[in-house]
Amino acid sequence: MPQLPSWSGKNWAGIVFGLEYAACPPVRLRMDTERTEKKGPESMDYQGFFKESLAQLRDEGNYRVFADLERHLGQFPKATFRNAGDARDVTIWCSNDYLGMGQHPDVLAAMHGALDRCGAGAGGTRNISGTTHDHVELEIELADLHGKDAALLFTSGYVSNWATLGTLGAKIPGMVILSDALNHASMIEGIRHSKAQRIVWKHNDLTDLETHLQSLPLETPKLIAFESVYSMDGDIAPIGAICDLAEKYNALTYLDEVHAVGMYGPRGAGVAERDGVMDRVDIIQGTLGKAFGVVGGYITASTELVDFVRSFASGFIFTTALPPAVAAGAVASIKHLKQSAVERHAQQERVADLRQRLDGIGIPHIPNPSHIIPVMVGDPVKCKYISDRLLADHGIYIQPINYPTVPKGTERLRITPSPVHTAADMDRLVGALEALWAECHLARKPMAAQ
Ligand SMILES: *Cc1c(COP(=O)(O)O)cnc(C)c1O
Repeated sequence: MPQLPSWSGKNWAGIVFGLEYAACPPVRLRMDTERTEKKGPESMDYQGFFKESLAQLRDEGNYRVFADLERHLGQFPKATFRNAGDARDVTIWCSNDYLGMGQHPDVLAAMHGALDRCGAGAGGTRNISGTTHDHVELEIELADLHGKDAALLFTSGYVSNWATLGTLGAKIPGMVILSDALNHASMIEGIRHSKAQRIVWKHNDLTDLETHLQSLPLETPKLIAFESVYSMDGDIAPIGAICDLAEKYNALTYLDEVHAVGMYGPRGAGVAERDGVMDRVDIIQGTLGKAFGVVGGYITASTELVDFVRSFASGFIFTTALPPAVAAGAVASIKHLKQSAVERHAQQERVADLRQRLDGIGIPHIPNPSHIIPVMVGDPVKCKYISDRLLADHGIYIQPINYPTVPKGTERLRITPSPVHTAADMDRLVGALEALWAECHLARKPMAAQ
């Protein structure tokens, strides 16, 4: 356990939480002061319960504070950060708009065009008047991106995972879902909601997966649910080898490529495209909200499977369709990244640069084959403190990642360099991290041989 600075113990926490409030005021909770009517001791004190639960989160250093940001069009990753009447410029280093497509001229032109052509909202669910021509075009574009027969659009990646896994798990009789241990919350919730039998296999462990597959009768319907790039550690699944097992044991494969679409493969279709195994994956799920820079989620698969989900998934059917302008923006973004690798390559160079710079000063980060750089702090309070100081003293915004997003003891700063970060931005980041590492007495990796 590294030593705390001299103002340790309670002071440490005091300073941290003092800073937290100073830097970014938490959502104001309505206190229960106006209630006059006294209830019996047995009645539930709802507000007290909420307050208690939140206080506990704060004590653990796990209370989430949102940064009030206004992104500057044409100047990402610059943004205005507002806090208690104060406003100043910051550089964002933790955005999932990995390639800066949220400000791409083609995307903006398409969105403005659709807005002027069709107005604001879709005006209905997909079933009742909400399927606009932009939605139809987007689904064609997505199916083509992944080389599948069909695609289905959802309001977010979260909803697409939740609704698709929920529907397949609930509707296929006797279905067993084999879920990677580090799957995203949206997949876990969907599987849970389906009430299908769930087997959690060790993260990226083919032997464990095969053991579980072997234990099930061949005739049992099975689905293997996993991701390509895992968001918090940045490691990548052996997709081809998982498909081998799926074929051997007659299981469906469900792949979340949320952090990979736009980023990997010759046309930006993801890791399965890069690895040449896209056609072997039954269901590819993705988001339009990360590298594509807009919002929305989708699945692509066979005509029959997509039609099945379209027809039975409550989370698809009973909600208003995305605005046409969003669909049009997503089409433009996908089309651009299908034919341009410039952004992907620039992004990969930035990532390599930053890793090298961090290694040069011994700041520990998880070595992984992806574009995500998890800088490990290993303590929730220090993680939050470093993030606060980066923002307050250096104009650098990196949200701390604490439990339950990652296991306790693995708290981190998840850094996502993009083509729109400059060399000067990187100098400032590395300098600030070096200073804060020293101040917090955090361990360094042995430096590369001098
Ligand atoms: C962000 C994320 C999602 C959800 O996608 P949204 O479009 O943001 O709702 C799904 N899966 C993974 C792995 C994610 O990181």
